[in-house]
Amino acid sequence: MVQINVSQQLKAPIGSIRNYEVDETVDMTDGSILVQGQVGLMRTDRGILTRGALQTKIEFTCSRCLSLFRLPLALTIEEEYFPTTDVLTGISIPVPDEPGSFTIDEHNILDLTEAIRQYALLASPMKPLCRADCAGLCPTCGGNLNQVQCDCPPLPADPRWSKLSELTLAYEQVSADEGQGTK
Ligand SMILES: [Zn+2]
Ligand SMILES: [Zn+2]
Repeated sequence: MVQINVSQQLKAPIGSIRNYEVDETVDMTDGSILVQGQVGLMRTDRGILTRGALQTKIEFTCSRCLSLFRLPLALTIEEEYFPTTDVLTGISIPVPDEPGSFTIDEHNILDLTEAIRQYALLASPMKPLCRADCAGLCPTCGGNLNQVQCDCPPLPADPRWSKLSELTLAYEQVSADEGQGTK
């Protein structure tokens, strides 16, 4: 959890900046990650603007060879946090009606955890590869071709590709027909 008490800063003049060192574990849906770096907190007229350059490593399963590997990710965070309570009077204040906006709780705690989670998810590759030229698994024996050189005969060309090119051709044909129809 990355939780920062910002009660002092909420009393400070607009534009005042404070730096905060992050060195925390953050729970993700599958396991936790160590997040390190520095976040700058700036008092704005509406709340606290956070800007941070954070590093983490996330474990992924390679989409080709199914091996586990750790990938370093750089997270550049920029989010404004809005107070829900007036720091001087303790009276609750309405939060701007902006979807997905982050808030500072009634104890003046600014919690970066959820933002870090979201940025880490966004930075995660859709199809993680343990390395750019991962050789994947042998479709015949299932061996990891990065580690073993099996003697399986090469498979004929993947039939899915020929299906795909048929589709492309059919689509082009339809487009051509439509083009003629409008003339
Ligand atoms: Zn791989
Ligand atoms: Zn094989």
